[in-house]
Amino acid sequence: MKNVLITGGSRGIGKACAYAFSKEGYRVFLNYNKSEEEAEKIKNDIGAIPIKADISDVEQIKKMYDFIHKNYGKIDVLVNNAGISQVKMFTDITEKDWDNMFNVNVKGMFFVTKEFVKDMISAKEGKIINISSMWGVTGGSCEVHYSAAKAAVIGFTKSLAKELGPSGITVNCVSPGVIDTDMNGHLSQEDIEELNEDTPIGRMGKAEEVADAVLFLASSDFITGEVLNVNGGIVI
Ligand code: NAP
Repeated sequence: MKNVLITGGSRGIGKACAYAFSKEGYRVFLNYNKSEEEAEKIKNDIGAIPIKADISDVEQIKKMYDFIHKNYGKIDVLVNNAGISQVKMFTDITEKDWDNMFNVNVKGMFFVTKEFVKDMISAKEGKIINISSMWGVTGGSCEVHYSAAKAAVIGFTKSLAKELGPSGITVNCVSPGVIDTDMNGHLSQEDIEELNEDTPIGRMGKAEEVADAVLFLASSDFITGEVLNVNGGIVI
């Protein structure tokens, strides 16, 4: 049985990934931070193994690694999905906002990957899939810190793909457009209609549609360093 670790698996895109990987026969390790009830529900539904850890805290990540490594061995697929967003004018972004954004979206991905890649390198196989955003590709107004962090995810993906290719490990990234999850709960009906109009497919994406792309990247041994847009055509 192959092992997948999904960070931020308790809600939204991560949760959809948990169900998708479970359907494909993977043992799912479901990292979460605050949403314990949601994580328990997914455990009951699909037998996922929930692990509470704030990915921005290196000690909690080391504990998560030790638990998985000692009891189950190596992770075959790592999905670096956990993330936060914030909409703010650039001039209103504080140092704390900036640090928080980078601590979770970039440093967290770095901490988690650094722990779990060790076993992948020893085994000379593994798949790492990072979740960026279309704003990391194009830049989003009033989301400078989010866009900068998501652009960093792309740079991280491409560099690591080059470095780890010789070790048999692929590193890719999915770049979602506007997906119907809690992260977009702040959007008004009017905002949603405007976004739908700007999207050739004419609607928001579903978390399951992003999970399909993640699963696809996990199935390939020859795609690496790629940024796969899943956005209904809003950015082409
Ligand atoms: P979401 O519904 O808000 O869910 C976020 C998930 O991340 C939750 O499971 C949350 O866990 C987890 N998380 C947040 N901070 C964490 C931390 N410090 N440690 C561990 N887990 C943490 O968001 P989503 O829409 O599914 O987004 C998932 C990823 O896709 C993010 O990286 C996001 O930037 C990216 N993305 C989303 C969209 C979109 O339109 N929705 C578009 C582009 C990219 P708890 O609830 O347990 O704390």
